[in-house]
Amino acid sequence: MSAPASDPSCIFCAIIRGEVPCVKIYEDDNVLAFLDLHPVRPGHTLVLPKTHAATLLELEPGSGEAVIQAMRKVGRAMRAGLGAEGFNCLQNNFAAAGQEVMHLHWHVIPRNKGDGLAFIWNPGKYADQDEMAAWAEKLGAHI
Ligand code: 5GP
Ligand code: ZN
Repeated sequence: MSAPASDPSCIFCAIIRGEVPCVKIYEDDNVLAFLDLHPVRPGHTLVLPKTHAATLLELEPGSGEAVIQAMRKVGRAMRAGLGAEGFNCLQNNFAAAGQEVMHLHWHVIPRNKGDGLAFIWNPGKYADQDEMAAWAEKLGAHI
């Protein structure tokens, strides 16, 4: 099998090539999962496609399934091995959304009730159905 497309300036590609060490949790032909160096909870794992893609927008059509199956394995292992009751799968696209490493990756984070981890999430509301429809129209024009 040929090596996955790699970006010489990308730290996660260097990890995939084995040039930078990582604490590996799972690997197959298409996906690598390793511990995040700065975990928000112990066991916090990064799951990424081996082929370089900067964001979700560059992901090759058809390659998402392998990542989802790897996240399922990791989530199952968190429940079985870490006593996690749940887990979050989070993924940032572009700096404005908090992406620091420009190689597409998912954060899989083990969770327990009362673990103290909180995501800032301030739900708002639309003025009315017309405002909702206007936002949907802006999106719909580009789908
Ligand atoms: P982002 O903000 O791009 O979604 O997340 C990048 C994550 O990668 C951060 O949580 C950071 O701790 C982690 N990270 C950055 N560089 C390395 C590295 O060299 N090795 C590992 N294991 N994690 C890294
Ligand atoms: Zn890369």
